[in-house]
Amino acid sequence: MGLIACKFGGSSAADGLQIRKVRSIVESDPNRRFVVVSAPGKRYDADNKITDLLYLLKAQTEHNAPYGQLLQVIKERFLGLEADLGVQVDIVGEFAEIEENLKNGATADYLASRGEYLSAKMIAAFLGYDFVDTAGLVLFTAKGKFLYEETNEALGAELAKHERAVIPGFYGTLPDGSIKTFTRGGSDITGSLVARAARADTYENWTDVSGFLMADPRIVDNPKAISNISYKELRELSYMGASVLHENAIYPARLADIPINIRNTNAPEDPGTIISADDTPQKGQIITGVAGNKDFTVIGIYKNMMSNEIGFIKRILSILEDYDIPIEHIPSGIDTVSLVIADKYLEDKLGDLIEDFEKKLGADSIELYENMSLIATVGLGMASVHGVAARLFNALTDAGVNIRMIDQGSSELNIIVGVETKDFNTAIRAIYSAFIS
Ligand code: ASP
Repeated sequence: MGLIACKFGGSSAADGLQIRKVRSIVESDPNRRFVVVSAPGKRYDADNKITDLLYLLKAQTEHNAPYGQLLQVIKERFLGLEADLGVQVDIVGEFAEIEENLKNGATADYLASRGEYLSAKMIAAFLGYDFVDTAGLVLFTAKGKFLYEETNEALGAELAKHERAVIPGFYGTLPDGSIKTFTRGGSDITGSLVARAARADTYENWTDVSGFLMADPRIVDNPKAISNISYKELRELSYMGASVLHENAIYPARLADIPINIRNTNAPEDPGTIISADDTPQKGQIITGVAGNKDFTVIGIYKNMMSNEIGFIKRILSILEDYDIPIEHIPSGIDTVSLVIADKYLEDKLGDLIEDFEKKLGADSIELYENMSLIATVGLGMASVHGVAARLFNALTDAGVNIRMIDQGSSELNIIVGVETKDFNTAIRAIYSAFIS
């Protein structure tokens, strides 16, 4: 196998024990030449992630609250790691600089980035790898838009100078050299960028689970693991994937056709899940996974002869645009259209929105269905098998679940159903057992 770029998440960098596991994984294959790391995460449930503490530090200084104690807690965590790993990376000097910058109004992005920066410095020293900072290599415009191609060039040119390196995840720089981070969980993106820039054959993303499961284990008992999934399927299952892999981490690897392998630092023998462009259905498998999301509201709009009225949908969309509200799905009938919207976008806008609809659309009726959930059943195998939809709907009917909405993509890769949130778990279990024995 050729070059491997690997990324280790916060739980893999949480303490000396975890970082020793990282070392044995990296050393067990000499192809693992480029290693991206997160800031130290939680060591136990009630523990704090370093990134959260760094954001808190910023909040405290903004409110003129004393920050000394908190800064000390963060510093001690790194001093402890430095001693435990037996490396010398001048944590004391680094923190003197951080404190100085803090006093001079350092940004939240700069502070948050120090978690990854110090983590990478320490792990580089521990592995005996070069440390390659992403400042000046992962590039954003002045407005904070990420620059894919410029980054690929700068990062590629720098990595070519190193046989082996540890690289901090999560951040890069604006044109003036100040630090800019991705959104939370963004080290996954850096890993993908490094894989592309280094022309890796595989991007291994090491976390604390052995890849994706076919359903949420809190709902379905012992769901099966997904060994292979295509980029397209994962996108459809984004409700499920989000907690394991940052959504934007797929794009760079996908551009360069590099498979992403999700692996478990605590169970390195598990093969994990491979995400790739390969969209041949797995043999004998109809569905790849089932996942859903709660907290949607459906707004049903009914108007006689709607289908003959030009510009009706456009008016609906422009009202939503005025309120800055995105739509998840728009199932429609001849004289009806339903808007499925995530509750988080409606919060204090719902009343005004409905009033505007009533005023501007001349609809015969507008109905609200709250507490709705969406469930996506996804699988490349669905297109080639007859009766998949029937099997799914029968399973839901047998389980006593009332289906309130149906949406099937024309690619036949997915079927989305809307159900009342009270039926969410029952529906997922029913669909899972209808397809997986
Ligand atoms: N440390 C950052 C976070 O907690 C980035 C990352 O871990 O990917 O969001």
